[in-house]
This record gives sequence, C-alpha cells and structure tokens, in this order.
Amino acid sequence: MSGDGALRSVVVVGAGLAGVTAADELRANGYDGRLVVVGAEAELPYDRPPLSKDVLLGKATLADVRLRPESWYADRAVELRLGVAVQDVRPAERRVFLGDGTAEHADAVVLATGGTPRALTVPGADHPAVLTLRTAHDVERLKSRLAPGARVAVIGAGLIGAEVTASAVALGCDVTLLDPVAPPLAAVVGPEIARVLHAQHGQHGVRLVHGAVDRIDGRGDRVLLHLGAVVVEADVVLVGIGIELDLALADAAGLATDRGVLVDEVGRTSNPRVFAAGDVARAVGPGGPLPRVEHWDAALREGQAAAAGVLGLPAPAPRPPWFWSDRYGTHLEGVGEFDPVDLSVVRGDIAALDFTAIAVRGGRPTGAVAINRPNEIKALRRLIERGTPVDPGRLADPSVDLRSLARGASA
Ligand SMILES: Cc1cc2nc3c(=O)[nH]c(=O)nc-3n(C[C@H](O)[C@H](O)[C@H](O)COP(=O)(O)OP(=O)(O)OC[C@H]3O[C@@H](n4cnc5c(N)ncnc54)[C@H](O)[C@@H]3O)c2cc1C
Repeated sequence: MSGDGALRSVVVVGAGLAGVTAADELRANGYDGRLVVVGAEAELPYDRPPLSKDVLLGKATLADVRLRPESWYADRAVELRLGVAVQDVRPAERRVFLGDGTAEHADAVVLATGGTPRALTVPGADHPAVLTLRTAHDVERLKSRLAPGARVAVIGAGLIGAEVTASAVALGCDVTLLDPVAPPLAAVVGPEIARVLHAQHGQHGVRLVHGAVDRIDGRGDRVLLHLGAVVVEADVVLVGIGIELDLALADAAGLATDRGVLVDEVGRTSNPRVFAAGDVARAVGPGGPLPRVEHWDAALREGQAAAAGVLGLPAPAPRPPWFWSDRYGTHLEGVGEFDPVDLSVVRGDIAALDFTAIAVRGGRPTGAVAINRPNEIKALRRLIERGTPVDPGRLADPSVDLRSLARGASA
C-alpha cells in the first residue's frame, strides 16, 4: 500500500465484478495477507450481463455465470462473507463493520458496491407486478412472470430495457416498450443508429409507445399504465431507467463524492486507505470528474486498477471504454469516447444492421459503434488506444481490413 504502514488485511466491500477482480489482481500480484470479500447478496459472485440475456431466456443458470468457481476462493485464501452488508467503514480505525455485528480489520478497503436500479417514482409504482433487474433474485422473479402470452410492459428502452424486451419476445410474450425519448439511445449512438435499433423492436412485433408513465393503477395482479390519455395494460412491468448509487457508506467514511466516489487512476479515494472501483466509482481526470461509466469492461479495469493502487503499483495502461449489448441476435458494441455527431465514417449499411460507424477527430479515430462486427471493433480499439492517425477514406473503404491498419501493416 502506498507508503504508510504494513498491509496485512484488505477488505473488499461488494462481491460483483469489480470487487472479485480486485481480489483476483491482489493475489495475482503477490499480496499474501488476509483478503476478505464481503457481499450483501447470498449467492456466489456471478456475472450480470447474462441476466437479461441467456439467464432470462433459460439458456444458462446462475451456476453457469459465476465469476469464479467456488474452489477458486478457497484455493487463493479469499474469504467470502456473503449475505451480509458492510454498514460502516472507518479508515482511521482500520476497521470495517458488518450488519451481523462483526468487524474486520482493514489496512486497506476497496469499495465496489455497484448500484441499484432507479425506481419509478410515479403513484402506484410499488405494485408487486412492477419489477427491476439487477440481481439473481430479480431475474428469478421476472422469469417466473414471462410466460408465453403474458403482457409485458418495459419502461425504458436503454440497453437493459431493450435486452429484456428482446428476451421477452423470444419467450412468446406480448411486449410493449415505453420510452419518453425519441429515438431512445440517441445520446449514446446518435439519432440514425438509434432509430434503426429502436425500429428493430417494432419489426419483432413489439408495440412502441412514446411517452412517460405518469400513474400506475393496480387491477388485482395486473396493472394499467397511464401516459396521459394512453393506457397500457400489463401483467408484468420491467422498469429499466438506469441505476442509483448508495453513497452513504462513502460519505460516512468522509470520502469525497460527487455522483460517485471520486477516485484517481489507481482507484484511490480522498482517503489513502480506501479505494473504489466499478459502477460506484467516478474517475477524476486532469480537468475534474469524468462521466461515470456503468459498463462491464470498466468494472473489470477499475477492479484491476484498485488492486494496483492498494499494492502501490503503477496504474494499468488506460484502455478506451467498451460496451456491448445483445438483442434479437444482433450484437451492438461501442468503443472509445466520442460525440455521436462525430460518427461520420460508415462501413457497411446502418439500415441493414450490419455496419461500423466511426467517429474521427483531428484525423484520428476516437470511437466507434458497430453491429455484428466484433473484429472491426477490436481493430478500432487498438487504433484509438494508440491514437493512430488514419485517412478517413481508408477507414470507410470496405476493401481495407481494419485489422491490417491496426497492425500498422498498411497504415
Ligand atoms: C441485467 C444487466 C445486464 C448488463 N449487461 C451488460 C452488457 O451487456 N454489457 C456491458 O458492458 N455491461 C452490462 N451490464 C453492466 C455491468 O454488468 C455492470 O457495469 C457491472 O456488473 C458493475 O459491476 P460492479 O462490481 O461495479 O457492481 P455490481 O455488479 O452491482 O456489484 C456490487 C455488489 O456489491 C454489493 N453491495 C452493495 N452494497 C454493499 C455493502 N454495503 N456491503 C456488501 N456488499 C454490498 C451488491 O449487493 C452487489 O452484489 C449489465 C448490467 C445488468 C444489471
């Protein structure tokens, strides 16, 4: 740990991807002191992306999507304390207090507490048919309601809402997708791609409703969603409108927060004994806090970075952000940091959902969005990482293999 004192015990708070990755990296880098991972959920740590895809579809079980096999923890002397939440982190006392009344000694703490689904706050939203999706428990509840013919309303056509919609369609449900933004996701991928992605739902028989729900009326097991004069009846409602962070632990520990726990490039918070990673963390760049990222790859990278920070090692080399999303057999990916208006170079055909759209600034690719073109995204990731200047004409030319540009062979 950076400078001040021995490192004999590390406590990781949160057993999601960021927390488990941090534990893995600590051991991989030779840390041989006590290592405790505390997780509020009772299940062995599992991966979240399959919840809205293969787990919901019944193609994978929770056991199939564990982050590590059970033996992995014992083999590396990673002590799992599951089904109990950390209630208090006191860095000055080097102690972490758990909900079961016990406490752990902690020379360093990694906060990886993720987030929880943002709740819909309209009247009636507490009806038992109104669900969210984040955990193993959530997916079981949702799955049990997605019988063929069930009327499903999905509120929010972002990444998770779109995936649940597609999964519900595949399960034979009668789905309505509601969103006040037209087209949804335009802020992420630009209006043209967003329109084509959204239209895909309609092509699969989904009823698209533009608007915001202002009231929910329960009718026994069912609900009526009111959007002004429009009423949508549903047997089950999935709300996918983003996540909220619980910053109470960080605030009580005296850490600097600003819509996230503020961290440097090795996950160090304003307290040198406490690190943060994953959805809960917000990196501070030279110009101030950066937008917080809520994607799988960021949780992985930040878990690795926090482990480096705990051990006083240099930060891992930065990588451009990357995310993916799957719906109706199409694989959407985005890489880099870009303004969607810069997605001006297009390979392939956006309308046919087979393309890579590349953002270029100052003669260099800065980001890209693609459907079903993972190799091109991989190549662009390398070009963006290296800041390689590329002639936009060559980027757009379908006969030019982006992988060869990335290898520098014909750049
Ligand atoms: C359904 C779904 C599908 C997704 N699909 C994709 C995708 O296709 N592509 C993509 O890039 N990203 C996807 N994501 C996002 C990605 O999974 C998350 O960004 C990532 O899981 C965040 O990891 P994390 O470790 O920061 O947080 P989490 O996975 O939320 O883990 C945090 C853990 O900490 C626990 N915890 C909280 N407070 C305490 C406490 N006080 N004490 C102890 N434990 C605590 C929580 O119970 C939780 O288990 C998806 C997310 C969901 C929910």
